[in-house]
Amino acid sequence: MKFLGYHVAKGMLVTISRFANTYVQGVRRTLRMAPGSGGPGSQGIFTVQYPEQRLPVPERFRVLPVLIREEATGKIRCTACGICTKVCPTQCIWIVQAKGEDGKTKNAPESFCIEPNVCMNCGLCAEYCPFNAIKMDVKFELAEYRRQEVLRLEDLLVSSEYYDRTHPQATAEAAAAAAAKAAAKAAAAAAPTPATPAPGGTHAAG
Ligand code: SF4
Ligand code: SF4
Repeated sequence: MKFLGYHVAKGMLVTISRFANTYVQGVRRTLRMAPGSGGPGSQGIFTVQYPEQRLPVPERFRVLPVLIREEATGKIRCTACGICTKVCPTQCIWIVQAKGEDGKTKNAPESFCIEPNVCMNCGLCAEYCPFNAIKMDVKFELAEYRRQEVLRLEDLLVSSEYYDRTHPQATAEAAAAAAAKAAAKAAAAAAPTPATPAPGGTHAAG
């Protein structure tokens, strides 16, 4: 049984040890014993001389959504299915489905808009998109001289190569999952099909 205030004491110990560690790391940096002093991999308090120095951004960091265009074919993955507009909690995605000359709808967006000031960076659109067409970007340096109230299709498009490069782990996981799915499909196709019972039945009632 834990004494009263155990968890508070445990939390304080963690805080105190980290506080003390900043001094240990400071001394080690002074003596040039710490690897990557002041940069990636450093611990404790250090200053990054941004923008000359930059810390790597974790690939799960989410800023604004982007739309993926296939590097090889130039095709936009989005089919204008509208699922992202339905799941978006802030309702900041607006899509118009493209139409052919015959008036029939096409599986592509004619326009795709996102209001960046309304987007809460939750990533649900990317989670729910069945076509891997919308992804969360890690780019956070978005300052411009003119505020963009709406990001349009041409602003949102990035190449699949850009996404793969900025999200190597997610790309590798997706490739592994696709390979496993293809292997399972091939194995199922190669498996012998069970023999069909002859007409007249094989289960005679006793
Ligand atoms: S981004 Fe994905 S979920 Fe949204 S409309 Fe396009 S295909 Fe559908
Ligand atoms: S990140 Fe969230 S708020 Fe932003 S567009 Fe996607 S679903 Fe909407």
